[in-house]
Amino acid sequence: APGLYLVATPIGNLEDITLRALRVLQSVDRIACEDTRQTQKLLNHYQIQKPTISYHQHNERSRSDELVIALQAGQRIAIVSDAGTPGIADPGVEVVAAAIAAGIPVYPIPGANAAISALIASGLSTESFTFHGFLPPKSGQRRTQLESLVLDGTTHIFYEAPHRIVETLEDVAAVFGAQHPVALAREVTKLHEEHLRGPVSEILDILKARDSIRGEFVLLLSGEPPAEEAAQAAPASIASTVDALMK
Ligand code: SAM
Repeated sequence: APGLYLVATPIGNLEDITLRALRVLQSVDRIACEDTRQTQKLLNHYQIQKPTISYHQHNERSRSDELVIALQAGQRIAIVSDAGTPGIADPGVEVVAAAIAAGIPVYPIPGANAAISALIASGLSTESFTFHGFLPPKSGQRRTQLESLVLDGTTHIFYEAPHRIVETLEDVAAVFGAQHPVALAREVTKLHEEHLRGPVSEILDILKARDSIRGEFVLLLSGEPPAEEAAQAAPASIASTVDALMK
């Protein structure tokens, strides 16, 4: 059927794409990509030959109009981002709104997402959680945002850049306390996948002891304060796993 297809792509492991996503990418008239070169690697891997056009932060609005005109003419168009689910800390939202306003069907093709993947492996509560995307790059604003979350009670999920993760954890320790339970997921689904879990101060010690901090990170904060008894009885354990299975 004609329409706009929001296609999730892998976040690191090329196998993390659904059969349906591949079929949709095969069958659309064209693929609007955050970065055409990045998506081309995926298309080449699966031997999919399709016209691509760029659709990113800086041309989102003008491209949306163009795409809606093509959709109104009956085309099937896929939107993909560099990795994961389009529209989640990535372009996609504008064209979805424009398509809906024009009465065009919009179909999600679900798949990988870094936030949900990190959450389910975090050990933190999944009952109620809040996704915040990236925190502000400046410490002052970052702390203000963190302070607004202290009494919120949900698990908090953030994306963070490798060069800022230590600073951000320091702000988390300052605002929530050194013992606050956090989880840090690095390179999820990739070769050097790692999950650090424990009090924020211990995660900081581990990262600061490293020569370099690389990769992609999802940071999660517990919505609950540290369990006092557990904190006093024994040093909280930090599970670090490098799971090469299935990679
Ligand atoms: N749309 C994507 C999704 O569905 O997850 C997110 C795009 S956002 C621009 C990129 C950020 O997501 C990275 O800076 C990092 O914080 C996080 N991320 C993406 N892939 C990841 C991975 N494999 N492991 C850990 N974090 C990841």
